Amino acid sequence: IAPSAIRSYRISVLTRRQFLKLASVLPVSHWPSLGRARTSTTVAVVGGGFGGATCAKYLRKLDPSLRVVLITPHSRFVTCPFSNAAIIGLRPIGSLTQNYASLTRKHGVTVIHAEAKELDPIQNRVLLSNGTVVAYEKLVLSPGIDINTQAIRGYTRGATRVFPHAWIAGQETEALRTRLHAMKDGGLVVISVPPTPYRCPPGPYERASLFAYYLKLHKPKSKVLILDANNTFTKDDLFLAAWKELYPEMVEWVPLSEGGEVIEVDAAKGVVRTHFDEYKPALGNIIPPQNASQIARVAGLDAGTGWCSVNPATFESLVHKSVYVIGDAALANPMPKSAFSANSQAKVCAAAIVAALRGRSQNDSLLLNTCYSLVTPDYGISIPAAYRGNAGQLRVVPQSAITSPADAPASYRALEATYAKAWYSNIVADTF
Ligand code: FAD
Repeated sequence: IAPSAIRSYRISVLTRRQFLKLASVLPVSHWPSLGRARTSTTVAVVGGGFGGATCAKYLRKLDPSLRVVLITPHSRFVTCPFSNAAIIGLRPIGSLTQNYASLTRKHGVTVIHAEAKELDPIQNRVLLSNGTVVAYEKLVLSPGIDINTQAIRGYTRGATRVFPHAWIAGQETEALRTRLHAMKDGGLVVISVPPTPYRCPPGPYERASLFAYYLKLHKPKSKVLILDANNTFTKDDLFLAAWKELYPEMVEWVPLSEGGEVIEVDAAKGVVRTHFDEYKPALGNIIPPQNASQIARVAGLDAGTGWCSVNPATFESLVHKSVYVIGDAALANPMPKSAFSANSQAKVCAAAIVAALRGRSQNDSLLLNTCYSLVTPDYGISIPAAYRGNAGQLRVVPQSAITSPADAPASYRALEATYAKAWYSNIVADTF
C-alpha cells in the first residue's frame, strides 16, 4: 500500500489528456476542485476473468444505478477451461477467446484496459498502470493467480520456455500445443502437479488423460508420467480406473509418497528432478505452486499466506473493509479454485455489495460448483457440490457432493462429456 504514491496524482500534476481520462472514471465528489455533485456510486472490479467479469455484470443487473468500472489489462481473455482440449487439437484456441463488448454494450459496464498497480484501501482508490486513479465506494479483486517461480529450483522465467506450464491460458497454451504436436513418437511427457491448493484441482489429470488420448492415436509408443506433490487427488478412483482401462502402459502416476514431488529443473539440460530421480522428458509440462496474483498480495490482503481470507457470506476481505476478493485469489476452502466457483462467488459478492450499499447486511451464502473433466472427447466425469457460507465458515451442503458413479456404462460417460461442453458454453455466456 502506498497512499503517498496515489496522493501525488493530484489534478495539478495531470496533463489535460490525463485529466479527461480521470474525469471519465472518477465520481466528481472525490475531486473538490470540480465542485459538482456526485452522480453515482462506483464499484471498481479488478480482473476481467471468470470472477471479475461475472461480478461486474451482476452488479449492474442488481443495481443499474451503479457505476461499475472493470479494470483488466487486455481486450481479449483466453479461458483455461477447455484449454486442455485445445492443446490436443480438439478445438481451436481462438474458440476459447472472449471479449468485453457485451459487458459494455448490453450491461453498461465501463471497461478500462490497464493493470491495477497499487491499492489505497484507506482512501478507497486504485492506481492504474496508465496513470489513472479510480476512486471507489467498494472494490472487488478477482486477479487470479501468479506462478510461484521460487518454489521449484531453477524454474526461472526462461525455464518456462523449456517447460511451459500453460496454467494461465494464452501464449503458453499455444507453446505447449506446438511442442506436443512436434514431439516424436516414443517420447516421454512429464506433467508435474503442485501441492494443493492450486488452480483447477482436476486440471492436471484431465490434461494427462487428453494427452494420452492424443498420443494413443498419433504417437502410441509415447508415455505420460505424472509427478505429483500430493498423495490423493479429486476423482482419483475414476481417473485411475479410466487410465487402467483406456491407457494401460501409457499413463503412470507417481504420488508424493513414492517421490513424485518435482523440486528442481535444469532448463539448459532439459532435466526434471524429484527427491530421488532425474528425468529428461521429450516434453516437460511443469505446473508450479501458485498464489494469489500480485496486486492482492502487495496490498497485504493475503496477510502473508499467499491467499486472501474472506468472510464466506459476502467475500469481503478480512484484512480491509470495503474490499472483496473472489475467485482463485480467495481462500475459500473447501471450494475448489475453478471458473464455476469464481462465477458463483461473484454473484454472492455482487449481492452482498448491493445490500451493503443499501445499509443491509448479508449473513448467509449458497454457492455452487461442478468440476467436469474429459478423459477422452466422449468420456466425461464430474464432481458437483453446493456450499453454505455463514458464521465465518464455508461448508459443503450434506449430500451435495456426489461424484460420477464408478461403474457407469459408456453411454453415461458420453452424456457427461456432452454436459461438460454445454457447461462451457453456458458459463462463458453467463460471464462475458
Ligand atoms: P482469472 O479467470 O484468471 O481472471 C483473472 C484476470 O485478472 C485476468 O484477466 C488477469 O489478466 C487479470 N489481472 C491480474 N492482475 C491484474 C491487475 N493487477 N490489474 C488488472 N487485472 C489483473 N475451471 C472450471 O470451473 N472448469 C474447468 O473445466 C476448468 N478447466 C481448467 C483447465 C485448466 C488447464 C486450468 C489451468 C484451469 C481450469 N479451470 C477450470 C480453472 C479456472 O480457469 C480458474 O479457476 C478461473 O479462471 C478463476 O477465475 P478468476 O477470476 O479468479 O481468475
